[in-house]
Amino acid sequence: MVLERLSVLHSWCVQAEWDAPTIVGGKGAWFWDANGRRYLDMSSLAECMNLGHQHPALIRAIREQAERLCFVTAAWGAEPRARLAERLLEKSGFEGGRVFFSLGGADANEHAVKFARQAGSKPRGWTITRDRSYHGATFGAMALSGDSRTRYYIDPQDLRVVHVPPPYAYRCPFGSASDVECGERSARRIGQVIDEYGSGQVAAVLMEPDAGTNGIIAPDSYWPLLRRETRDRGVWLIADEVMSGFGRCGEWFAWQRYGEAGRPDLMSLAKGLTGSHLPLGAVVMSREVAARLETEMLPTGLTYCGHPLACAVGLAALETYEDEKLIERSRSLGARLYSELCAMRNRVEVIGDVRGGHGLFAVVELVRDRATRDPASIWPSRHPSLAAFVDRSREEGVSFATRGNLIILAPPLVIEEEDLMDALALMERLLTQLEWS
Ligand code: PLP
Repeated sequence: MVLERLSVLHSWCVQAEWDAPTIVGGKGAWFWDANGRRYLDMSSLAECMNLGHQHPALIRAIREQAERLCFVTAAWGAEPRARLAERLLEKSGFEGGRVFFSLGGADANEHAVKFARQAGSKPRGWTITRDRSYHGATFGAMALSGDSRTRYYIDPQDLRVVHVPPPYAYRCPFGSASDVECGERSARRIGQVIDEYGSGQVAAVLMEPDAGTNGIIAPDSYWPLLRRETRDRGVWLIADEVMSGFGRCGEWFAWQRYGEAGRPDLMSLAKGLTGSHLPLGAVVMSREVAARLETEMLPTGLTYCGHPLACAVGLAALETYEDEKLIERSRSLGARLYSELCAMRNRVEVIGDVRGGHGLFAVVELVRDRATRDPASIWPSRHPSLAAFVDRSREEGVSFATRGNLIILAPPLVIEEEDLMDALALMERLLTQLEWS
């Protein structure tokens, strides 16, 4: 077996510290390494394998499309691309809108901002995003992200991005007394920032409607109010649904929880779009946005945008979510996950906050002291015991994702309930055994 420890430059880590097993196969919520050790996937790898590993329907779709046609550029038509666009418009209710296909989430977000600028005739318009957010790691997406790890390398102002405080109810930046109030004040602040810059100067607000990549989940009072604040000021709202889409938050797209009151003007997709069996992203836009782009040259595109193989697997993924009723499954299993975690919080001192409750996505925040909410480690650094938690769970056959002082739970939507409960029991045991001072 050829090992990559010394030859591959790995993302988001210190190279000298990278030392992971080689994964050679998977099925459902499990994957296994070259030594035959099995791991239950409690994070869908990068919160992306919503349909589990090696789903047979997706593999079949790849094989069949590969035999028919692997590639054509956007200058020519491709059947799976056309069909997938139609299905996405139908699922999102963006009748008369259009879909632009990208290669993944970062370039979907960058393209969404480009389209918002062009459609709003604000070619150099500002984009408002949140502190402590993640929208990707290309240069534009780095600027959009409120991520301290990359701030040294890029100044968001250079790309006309301004960050606002997040709706982080557990530590509300506005000192609110309740989740509802924190959501409202955070949304209103965005309206104020638009007014400060001038609505004619702001092209878009780009945010996640629910699941926060960096562990912040917006209270329900946030998104519908943000929708109103942006609409009243004629600023496009872009929902980054890269992680929250495709059942992760119990809906096809997280904003749908609020019905029409939550409908954005554009949304960016990736990850669950193909269950990550092939790379693909998309920007879905409303009829109004699409109409404004209809008669103008679109000055963008990447060679592999709308790759037929990836679109074919996207179509199969959509069918699988439907056939296996996975959106509904995420909702019901997610409710169980949330209630189990809330009960665990009552027993485990180090758990300060449990966030989630919508679909198979939850965040557990660890604190040194519940009364003061003193975090187990200062964001974004990770407490050594949380690193030990990851190692020890792996030894016991469960793969958990952690970030800073958080455990992010986002298993594949196909996970067996019994496996989920076993993983939670292991989590409780290890959190209780480890030292958190
Ligand atoms: N947006 C969100 C909310 C994400 O979680 C991610 C990836 O984690 C991205 C964008 C970037 O997607 P990609 O890694 O496919 O570029």
